[in-house]
Amino acid sequence: VPVSRIRNFSIIAHIDHGKSTLADRLLQETGTVADRDMKDQFLDSMELERERGITIKLQAARMSYRAADGQDYVLNLIDTPGHVDFSYEVSRSLAACEGALLVVDASQGVEAQTLANVYLALEHDLEIIPVLNKIDLPGAEPDRVIQEIEEVVGLDCSNAIFASAKTGVGVPEILAAIVQQVPPPADTVQDPLRALIFDSYYDLYRGVVVYFRVMDGSLRKGDRVKLMASGKEYELDELGVLSPTQVQVEELHAGEVGYFAAAIKAVTDARVGDTITQVKQPAAEPLPGYVEAKPMVFCGMFPTDADQFPDLRDALERLKLNDAALQFEPETSSAMGFGFRCGFLGLLHMEIVQERLEREYDLDLIITAPSVIYRVTTIKGEVVMIDNPSALPDPQQREKIEEPYVRVEMITPEEFVGTLMELGQSRRGEFRDMKYLTPGRTTLIYELPLAEVVTDFFDQMKSRSRGYASMEYQLIEYRENTLVKLDILINGDPVDSLAAIVHRDKAYYTGRALVSKLKELIPRHQFKIPLQAAIGTKVIASESIPALRKDVLAKCYGGDISRKRKLLEKQKAGKKRMKSVGRVDVPQEAFMAVLRLK
Ligand code: GDP
Ligand code: MG
Repeated sequence: VPVSRIRNFSIIAHIDHGKSTLADRLLQETGTVADRDMKDQFLDSMELERERGITIKLQAARMSYRAADGQDYVLNLIDTPGHVDFSYEVSRSLAACEGALLVVDASQGVEAQTLANVYLALEHDLEIIPVLNKIDLPGAEPDRVIQEIEEVVGLDCSNAIFASAKTGVGVPEILAAIVQQVPPPADTVQDPLRALIFDSYYDLYRGVVVYFRVMDGSLRKGDRVKLMASGKEYELDELGVLSPTQVQVEELHAGEVGYFAAAIKAVTDARVGDTITQVKQPAAEPLPGYVEAKPMVFCGMFPTDADQFPDLRDALERLKLNDAALQFEPETSSAMGFGFRCGFLGLLHMEIVQERLEREYDLDLIITAPSVIYRVTTIKGEVVMIDNPSALPDPQQREKIEEPYVRVEMITPEEFVGTLMELGQSRRGEFRDMKYLTPGRTTLIYELPLAEVVTDFFDQMKSRSRGYASMEYQLIEYRENTLVKLDILINGDPVDSLAAIVHRDKAYYTGRALVSKLKELIPRHQFKIPLQAAIGTKVIASESIPALRKDVLAKCYGGDISRKRKLLEKQKAGKKRMKSVGRVDVPQEAFMAVLRLK
């Protein structure tokens, strides 16, 4: 196909506004996937994604489409992940497109994620086609929502399409608009090869399969290519397109989207955003915008059963083959034994990895509360990055501590403004701006320490707004604060995995709340267990768990063996997620207690 008949686009939307459903309809309408092969949400292929209704890893699909002019066009849909943790991936897939469908639920309106994605699309100069989805719903108010998009986003909506991804209304119009409004790629076939990696995954037999968009030049099966950021060279064993299953081709040129396999051993060698060029005739400059995704959130993972340590290491190594952003290194905790300190892009990324370790690898893990990465300057002038509270240098050794700040944008119905501002203040937030979007809807902008956001900020925002508010955040900078290390002692021993870094003004409150929460969560033992919170050597709060008086079996009358066994089994199951810390069995929830303080 000539470059003039290629269109590359993505779909941007707030979660649940219908992106995946619309993608399915486009594949069906163009006959890319036969009706009988259509299963719901073709693009969300990972089981976890379907369950959670989110797109974690983006994928792509090539469609052929005969337009009204009688010509055949190639439409490449490049899907984007629908979560803030993966915004770098979103920006790379948008960089591979010339246009985007902006899907907004006509019964809801503009949400935080809609805005964040539109800003990204505008940064890449994409042609944006507004689509008012779900117009089949009785509550749909497409005209109101159009007004909202025009006012809030500043986007001309005279070409907006009314659609229902459910019934198919408007879908032919969307395809026609893509051809008419999205510009074709630049015709730079003669230039040296530059192709942008927007996704990759690990395949056991072929090595990493790389998804890319050719920006300039061309590549053929058998070519020797170089990845400009990693500096590594490979020979293309396999080259193809995604229609939407992989179909091999001999050559791809500027404007096209495809995949290759080249016996690459791990996705870290072919990172999203890297530029592919020819070894023989390399490009002078890589494509702009490459960043190595850096973890922002860290936690400790320890097997409940120490024998599972090698299994945990193997599982992490295997997940890492497919996840360039996942980091881990061995951690030895005096309380927990051997485990790993793991780094993630954000909370969702962390939860996904934890869930996969437990589900797919059948591991029982104790996971410690998430923490951020602090920048500590020592009195000697050294700068160290601390991703584990227990590793914080002593106060006498520290010159200053800085912590990451994020800019949070919340969009909410007006009536929840007060309660959300309270939330912002209580999390050490600095109020920045408030704007009325349309009658009844407001956006609130705060700057907050990331540490306060990775606790339960999102859940709090949702429950305070009865589910109506939405939020996005982005990292802005490191700022200095008076932070202290809060130690927790169980039975007289400091438990390193419970240590937390908190603001000094909140330390007393947090210490008291934490020990009383632990008192609730840790079961009684045969002996009394003192619980203390301390800053340095100074104890700031204490509680104790009274001893159990009677053996639990004493409750069973004499010979009722089966009942006894049941009771023992119940105890054992309850113990599953326990870690022995000294002589005390501490349940999983205790390590997350810091997230559940009122
Ligand atoms: P995504 O999170 O943006 O990918 O949203 P989905 O495509 O998963 O859609 C979210 C929910 O809205 C699903 O239950 C869909 O069946 C439903 N949905 C999507 N499009 C429409 C539509 O046009 N009309 C109606 N009534 N429901 C829709
Ligand atoms: Mg989806």
